[in-house]
Amino acid sequence: MHKISEKTPIIGLTREELTQKLATLGLPAFRAKQIWHWLYTKGATDFSQMTTIAKPQQALLDEHFNLARPGIAKDLTSFDATRKWLLEFQDGNKVETVFIPEEDRGALCVSSQVGCTLSCTFCHTGTMKLVRNLTAGEIIGQVLVARDGLNEWNKKREDCLFTNIVMMGMGEPLYNYEQVARALTIIMDGEGIAISKRRITLSTSGVVPMIEKCGQELGVNLAISLHAVRDDLRDELVPLNKKYPLAQLLQACRDYPAANNARRITFEYVMLKGVNDTDADARELVRLLDGIHAKVNLIPWNPWPGAKYETSSRNRQHAFAKIVNDAGYSSPIRATRGEDIMAACGQLKSDSERKKGEKVWLG
Ligand code: SAH
Ligand code: SF4
Repeated sequence: MHKISEKTPIIGLTREELTQKLATLGLPAFRAKQIWHWLYTKGATDFSQMTTIAKPQQALLDEHFNLARPGIAKDLTSFDATRKWLLEFQDGNKVETVFIPEEDRGALCVSSQVGCTLSCTFCHTGTMKLVRNLTAGEIIGQVLVARDGLNEWNKKREDCLFTNIVMMGMGEPLYNYEQVARALTIIMDGEGIAISKRRITLSTSGVVPMIEKCGQELGVNLAISLHAVRDDLRDELVPLNKKYPLAQLLQACRDYPAANNARRITFEYVMLKGVNDTDADARELVRLLDGIHAKVNLIPWNPWPGAKYETSSRNRQHAFAKIVNDAGYSSPIRATRGEDIMAACGQLKSDSERKKGEKVWLG
């Protein structure tokens, strides 16, 4: 018998890879189609549940493949029905995944890394000591755990609340592009989880060289964590700006292949009292967005222990929003969700820490 760690993780293989691997075991291509169906439309967690596959073949598959989900270390529900899972992977590292239900839809906020290398000064995830990329299987695992937890495997599509994915959890998705792209391709597959590119939004702090590729290859909606309209301030808040300053970032947005009038790029702007929230900032924002298919999301800054910022007042948020809105850009002030369970934007942080001397793996 193989130990679990020696088995090939099946979640995260592309259809082609699965078909090839099955062929080496003497199994025909249609088995790959069946297994794909069991995994991604039925939510099978064990080969024995795959009743269209004969018992001896189930045993053969079980010998070679591992289809385990990440472990659930915590499962919390907020007073506003936001739900947060703390998930634990085989190596003990943990990430958080958040489900945000709305009236007739719901988005799962998915993590792409354990921690984040980028240390934006207002973000809790940026303070984590350990950083490693998640594998495609670990990214998809978050979606599978959410479907399990929401009990939405065998429901009709129109009865499901989990309709959208936002790559806005822990980590910078464009610093782990290969695994994120693989995961999203599997998630978008029409014969599986089948969440379309129109219902997926990838948020980046501005990894300019990867933006075009993301639009061309994945075609998902783009969100940019802007947060400042001047390079000196953005250098401080989002240190990646020193590498890819505003002019370059905005040009990449103008050129984004998957944006148009119907699918606008979201500019996220966290409202920090006395830092980036003046009327002049709002007017400069409008000027910068000229020529971009844009909408703005104003996010009241969510506090976390030890942070040095304060949230802008409601009046300031509204005055800022009005200027942007009057210039023709939709600019809702995003409601904070899941506050009581520390599930709000930028509050995600797990206790994963690097052991002394341990190397950081960034694929
Ligand atoms: N690394 C990516 C995606 C994860 S962060 C990115 O930065 O875009 C998701 C969003 O939450 C980003 O817009 C981020 O800037 C914002 N955010 C981070 N900390 C926050 C906080 N404390 N309050 C409100 N929003 C925050
Ligand atoms: Fe990383 Fe995004 Fe947080 Fe910045 S805001 S530290 S890029 S997760």
